[in-house]
Amino acid sequence: LDLEKQMGTGAAQSHILVFTFPVQGHMNPMVQFAKRLASKGQRVTIVTTISTSKSVQKLNSTSFGSNLRMELISDGSKQVDQDSETIEEFIERFRIATSKSLTKLMTKVRNSSDASQYPLKFLVYHSAMPWALDVARRQGIDGAPFFTTSCAVATIFHHVYAGTLKLPLEGSRAIMPSIPPLALNDLPSFVSHVESYPAYLKLAMKQYSNLKEVNWIFCNSFDKLEEEVLNWMESQDWPVKMIGPTIPSIFLDQKLEDDKDYGLSLFKPSVETCMKWLDSKQPGSVVYASFGSLADLTIEQTEELARGLNNSSYNFLWVVRESEKEKLPKNFVEEISGKGLVVSWCPQLQVLAHKAVGCFLTHCGWNSTLEALSLGVPMVVLPHWADQPTNAKFVTDVWKVGVRVKVNKKSGVAKKEEIAMRIKEVMDKEKGMKFRKASLIWKELAKEAVDEGGSSDKNIEEFVATVRSINL
Ligand code: UDP
Repeated sequence: LDLEKQMGTGAAQSHILVFTFPVQGHMNPMVQFAKRLASKGQRVTIVTTISTSKSVQKLNSTSFGSNLRMELISDGSKQVDQDSETIEEFIERFRIATSKSLTKLMTKVRNSSDASQYPLKFLVYHSAMPWALDVARRQGIDGAPFFTTSCAVATIFHHVYAGTLKLPLEGSRAIMPSIPPLALNDLPSFVSHVESYPAYLKLAMKQYSNLKEVNWIFCNSFDKLEEEVLNWMESQDWPVKMIGPTIPSIFLDQKLEDDKDYGLSLFKPSVETCMKWLDSKQPGSVVYASFGSLADLTIEQTEELARGLNNSSYNFLWVVRESEKEKLPKNFVEEISGKGLVVSWCPQLQVLAHKAVGCFLTHCGWNSTLEALSLGVPMVVLPHWADQPTNAKFVTDVWKVGVRVKVNKKSGVAKKEEIAMRIKEVMDKEKGMKFRKASLIWKELAKEAVDEGGSSDKNIEEFVATVRSINL
């Protein structure tokens, strides 16, 4: 059977393009999905834009295996002053340039010498780039969007798009089927603060412009995690397929050959420093803290975090990106030696999987949330913007694997005492037990979903079989 999978069942292999959006949290799950497709015997080319190439650490990684390639296409960034571009200008420039360069790439792929052996049959594109479907269809192939948010968040945005959630919000709670009642600070910030993020909301709305035309909608989530939301989506005839969590098999005890690294790192991780330091700590004694690839915290919040972490009675490993380092209190790094470690980027999955880590103080980016859930790590959540508040709500109230740090209503800042108290709530042997127990259940369910024959694995198999059977 394995050989059959590798070779294709008699028919020629198919070639699938996976077009990512060049931001860390959007690249990782799509790159992982691409690896998964390749592991099922398809030729897969990850498409990203030239502007990310300098920072992509593993561009020529051999661990990709023979079925997986990467192509860089132009996004028009060379012709503009990126620093002075508005978000709207960026999106428009990106759309125009990638429409052209993606078309060019498809033509090149179809004219390549092995095109008859690996006919180009499908384009998977990030949901924020619906124009890619037009490019694919003009080339005579089909395409499908990939949502890198949770299904709940995808649903909320759709309610705004369809007018079933009116903005600005009337009343104190947003009520939507299959979603718990959401207060203003549980909603995605593009929805709760429309006036602050009009361009982002517009981009989120675009995801639905051609959704009725597609036969597949991929979501980095798994059936049991968002069962009710999935049921609702299906009741609306959305062709949703959960294919996550897109986490390398080694962390979930599987054994796929081409799956040793995670995503594509746009930052350089301090692998050895982190792992050696964690090895020296007792099981369950470390708080891992990170706010993702984009967070831009205020100096005040950074200081409160520094004090909160240092005042708590636990060890901590804190990712503070290079661009954020100057916000740390003076001499902080020296002050914490032994008890804490600050690095500018870490191998997050390896860290989360390490037995020394007892909880994750997180901004609740969707990838971080799903990674912690899948590796059984309870969370202390401090969401900032975008979809993070909604993910945080699900962590505390639906999946019940963590607690949320309260922020001061006026300043929006979480105080050090509050941070230390919430950490204790989750780390404490007794108080934290219920979170650890719930986390381990989600870990099992995540593994079940991606294991051979699991719900996500079946969806991927079904997709591969369909693509394979396409006759061009
Ligand atoms: N990440 C990492 N090392 C770090 C911090 C983050 O590898 O030190 C990865 C993390 O595993 C996740 C991604 O970067 O896959 C961040 O995505 P997420 O959606 O959590 O947050 P965003 O960066 O989009 O805010």
